[in-house]
Amino acid sequence: MAKDFYKILGLDRTADDRAVKAAYRKLARKYHPDLNPNDKEAENRFKEVQEAYEVLSDPEKRAKYDRFGANWDRVVDDPSQWGGSGVNFDPGDLGSIFSQFFGGGGFSEADVAQPRNRGAQPSDVEKTVELTLEEIDSGTKRTLTYQVNDSCKTCDGTGQVRLRQPKPCRQCGGSGQMRSVFGVQPCTACHGRGRTDLEACPTCSGAGVLPTTKRVEVTIPAGIQEGKKLRVPGKGSMGANGRAGDLYVLVKELPHSNFKRKGDDLETEVTVPYYRALLGGEIKVDSIRPGSLSMRIPECTQSGQTFRLADQGLSLLGGKRGNLLVRVKIGIPKALSSEEKDLLKKIEAGQGVQK
Ligand SMILES: [Zn+2]
Ligand SMILES: [Zn+2]
Repeated sequence: MAKDFYKILGLDRTADDRAVKAAYRKLARKYHPDLNPNDKEAENRFKEVQEAYEVLSDPEKRAKYDRFGANWDRVVDDPSQWGGSGVNFDPGDLGSIFSQFFGGGGFSEADVAQPRNRGAQPSDVEKTVELTLEEIDSGTKRTLTYQVNDSCKTCDGTGQVRLRQPKPCRQCGGSGQMRSVFGVQPCTACHGRGRTDLEACPTCSGAGVLPTTKRVEVTIPAGIQEGKKLRVPGKGSMGANGRAGDLYVLVKELPHSNFKRKGDDLETEVTVPYYRALLGGEIKVDSIRPGSLSMRIPECTQSGQTFRLADQGLSLLGGKRGNLLVRVKIGIPKALSSEEKDLLKKIEAGQGVQK
């Protein structure tokens, strides 16, 4: 005997997706085996409800069921139209559909029905950009190129194109009606018109999306830090629902030969001739920005001593600038002139006992 899936869910044949879901949720709870232990009747009802929902919640299966009734899953008519020739459903497999609603085994009012996955889903894309400290200091732009699904331009993402000349509906063969075990029904594909002026888009084969190489210019703000991610909304992969994921740009800082980031500050090392370290005076310090800086070091500057040049470091997010920490390294010449040697010997003699 043919089962009437609509009757099982207590729905009429015009019920929309939301009504199908609501009916399923109500009945699946009512007959769930956990709540009806050792009740054979409830178990059978539960299986029926599962089976009915599996079919009526799936637009393709539902259309096929509307057309062919109980034998819907044995009918293979036009594989391209149905997205596959085999329709598999094992009514014994109760777990998968149920868990979509109730999240595993338990019941919770908070669990919300998820739309069934159909077609391409929107997804996020992550790209890494490698930046020099100079680029981090000034802020920069990068053009990123990557592969994603994008909305098909031919059909504007709808998956369908409008025909100039309407043609007979493939599903009902032009009659506008479908005969099923429930009697004659208006065709669900053409809504009874028998003709259709829409056709699957030839460019994307109806998917609404196409793999595309995307080029996106990303503005990287000055002061961004290593490991931070910039989110560029809507520049990820497009789903069949017309929504796109986001692009995430992961910042990687390239090592610099001269400077090292230390928190908000920038560190650098300067080699100073030994006599300048002893006598003190002006020294030149490279800047992360074009040009160099000069600073005074005091008499008897020690090796490894660090001086702070305020606001001469890297740009920070928010427009401020960090400090430049200058570590002094004392330079010893590779060779001495005889004059230098004489002078140093005089100093040495003047130091008395110290060797
Ligand atoms: Zn039709
Ligand atoms: Zn298309």
